[in-house]
Amino acid sequence: MIPYGRHDVTEADVDAVVQVLRSDFLTQGPAVPRFEQAVAAHVGVKHGVAVNSATSALHIACMALGLGRGDRLWTVPNTFVASANCGLYCAADVDFVDIDPDTWNLSVPRLAEKLAWAQERGALPKVVVPVHFAGQPTEQEAIWALAQQYGFKVLEDASHAIGAARNGEPAGSCRWSDITVFSFHPVKIVTSGEGGMALTNDAALAESMAMLRTHGITRDPRRWQEGDGAAWHYEQQLLGFNYRMIDIQAALGVSQLQRLDAYVARRNALARRYDVALEGLPLQLPTVLAGNRSAFHLYVVRLKPGIAKKTHRLVFDELRRRGVGVNLHYTPVHLQPYYRGLGFLPGQYPEAERYGCEAITLPLYPNLTDAMQDEVVAALQQTLA
Ligand SMILES: *Cc1c(COP(=O)(O)O)cnc(C)c1O
Repeated sequence: MIPYGRHDVTEADVDAVVQVLRSDFLTQGPAVPRFEQAVAAHVGVKHGVAVNSATSALHIACMALGLGRGDRLWTVPNTFVASANCGLYCAADVDFVDIDPDTWNLSVPRLAEKLAWAQERGALPKVVVPVHFAGQPTEQEAIWALAQQYGFKVLEDASHAIGAARNGEPAGSCRWSDITVFSFHPVKIVTSGEGGMALTNDAALAESMAMLRTHGITRDPRRWQEGDGAAWHYEQQLLGFNYRMIDIQAALGVSQLQRLDAYVARRNALARRYDVALEGLPLQLPTVLAGNRSAFHLYVVRLKPGIAKKTHRLVFDELRRRGVGVNLHYTPVHLQPYYRGLGFLPGQYPEAERYGCEAITLPLYPNLTDAMQDEVVAALQQTLA
């Protein structure tokens, strides 16, 4: 089976990890700040806070933004559940904004409409979480303009998008947001095994996220509220967690990051090959907006209903039988049983729902060879014939 995604680990990565294993620090050593600085420098953000997953990063980001009971968080239905769950962790109410039918990202017109509607009812969101789906940057500057108009915070879920850019601006640069989150899960663009990072240009947000990742404790004497300078003194000032990234993970991340540009270039080259090879099949291919460079975390096609002769389910199962590890990103979050239990219903976000009935993620990763990709294309041609 050719999987839809796969990590790439080199001998240099192995050496970097082994070096940490032979060093004095397995955790809370120098590799974590080194990784934070490297990622922050790469996207041009001042502060990076590394944690054990993007899910943890989303959680502490929402907490640092002050999200709590009675507040609202909005995201898109076409995302991994973590983009929405972070709101529920903070006891906030979660709601969704439908997607654009071509980019499959948050629809800015739908967001503008929903904000106007919510303002009349006194029900504006405190935090909006746009997701750079499949690695394509969202229309972040337009979302930011609405944030200024309506007074909400913007938390970019850039789990798919490290290495992407919009009009030359790196995705996740926080130019048009308060906080950005990246994921370093093995299926993402670069990996630390498991891991995530929250980035911000705001020193106070960075400091509170750094405390929240480690129990809400500060060891910085300048922040202490009490204490007489005793050698044992530290202070817990918030209720935080143990969400720390360890040095073994950070060393892998630093080593992987050196190949980020090559990975994104290869992913784009493979995406262009798919674009050419799949033309003429009953499929809607990915649309990349002018000025955008996608990181192509995923290459998703949509079956054109009425033109394709087989159903989504049949095409999917047949591709799997032919050895192509296709996947679905995503079943709309509001249709998950847990969210149905919160009262969400089919029909609420029609674009995301239509998308979920048509989308197929094809294999795409740096070590996918042209020959393997040709096998995928042949399997798709035979299945749709
Ligand atoms: C992978 C992913 C996450 C969660 O990342 P983890 O590091 O696995 O916690 C969150 N949001 C999106 C959009 C993702 O794809």
